[in-house]
Amino acid sequence: MTMFARSVFRAAAPVRQQYRKYATETATSSPQGTAGGSVPPAGGEPKGSSNGLLYGAAAALGLGGAGYYFLSGTPAAKKAEEKIQDAANKVGLPASSGPKAALTGGDQGFLSLKLEDVEIVNHNTKRFRFKLPEDDMVSGLHVASAVLAKYKPEGAEKPVMRPYTPISDEDTKGYMDLLIKKYENGPMSTHLHDMVPGQRLDIKGPLPKYPWAENKHSHIGLIAGGTGISPMFQLCRAIFNNPNDKTKVTLVFGNVSEEDVLLKSELAHLENTFPNRFRAFYVLDNPPKEWNGAKGFINKELLKTVLPEPKTENIKLFVCGPPGMMKSISGDKKSPRDQGELVGILKEMGYSPDQVYKF
Ligand SMILES: Cc1cc2nc3c(=O)[nH]c(=O)nc-3n(C[C@H](O)[C@H](O)[C@H](O)COP(=O)(O)OP(=O)(O)OC[C@H]3O[C@@H](n4cnc5c(N)ncnc54)[C@H](O)[C@@H]3O)c2cc1C
Repeated sequence: MTMFARSVFRAAAPVRQQYRKYATETATSSPQGTAGGSVPPAGGEPKGSSNGLLYGAAAALGLGGAGYYFLSGTPAAKKAEEKIQDAANKVGLPASSGPKAALTGGDQGFLSLKLEDVEIVNHNTKRFRFKLPEDDMVSGLHVASAVLAKYKPEGAEKPVMRPYTPISDEDTKGYMDLLIKKYENGPMSTHLHDMVPGQRLDIKGPLPKYPWAENKHSHIGLIAGGTGISPMFQLCRAIFNNPNDKTKVTLVFGNVSEEDVLLKSELAHLENTFPNRFRAFYVLDNPPKEWNGAKGFINKELLKTVLPEPKTENIKLFVCGPPGMMKSISGDKKSPRDQGELVGILKEMGYSPDQVYKF
């Protein structure tokens, strides 16, 4: 079993609801559960330093989240610095060798990537590992961005194209992992779930979303439904892998049942490692008997309790989920380039359109 499988398949402790915002705050209701229960020893957060020149280059290129890579002295840091240096080269800054990016955007078009491995995560979700063209290549994605998958069903006039957010780290070399939920009659997710290792999929990217930069906001709220967790997890990786980034993160994650909660051990790990900065609140439509968390859909009452208030300075809320959830929370975006009007619960709560980003 691979490392990925171990983390996803780990006998998940039941995810418990907490109404306490952070470890330093007093609980307002509900007993503390397992997900954020243990506080790691002081110094649990990694230490490191930044590199102004390269970070500036990354910023110039719109690689907003690049700062998180500077985990000084770690192999990941070395790899990532190379990646940023590579970006710096493109704007004429001093060159050095760096990892090549598989997906470079622009007029590159689609790459045909080979499916290397498939793992079943739960009753409707699989993890797909796609091989990058060369073993020493990184995906080329920055935070936050997605990839576009393309597939032409037999006899169809037009291909189907859908965005996905990889769950593997941006500095991972040689492959890229996608976590995909299957929808009945959904052409792309059904096609992917039918694929077997050795087959190929057309993938293009990066599709830029919200460019992250360290400490861009003081506190962000992530409101996710189902696979809507994947772009949120990408943001979390950018923030919590960067010792210079002190952003507070509150996640509200809605699912049908407990087995649908994706990335639960990874999220529990974040809660345990960063209790003062990361809180997760789980909402289940069909909770088990012993569930202490919120029930039903994500609602105004819960959001009022856990999210930073609209008047708080420099906050941002991110929303991603199924159409029904988007409609109720914020309204959906009109198109990838048009965020559409802010409506729904977040508007009623007094947030302004520029405080909300719809993935
Ligand atoms: C930025 C972004 C990142 C995404 N990342 C991922 C990811 O990492 N993994 C993943 O599995 N999906 C992700 N999605 C959703 C994905 O793009 C497709 O919408 C999904 O795979 C369904 O495609 P389909 O062709 O199979 O079905 P479709 O024909 O598009 O839809 C089938 C049915 O499912 C409903 N539906 C569509 N999308 C969703 C949704 N997100 N949640 C609930 N119901 C839905 C539709 O209303 C329809 O009833 C992402 C979406 C966006 C916008």
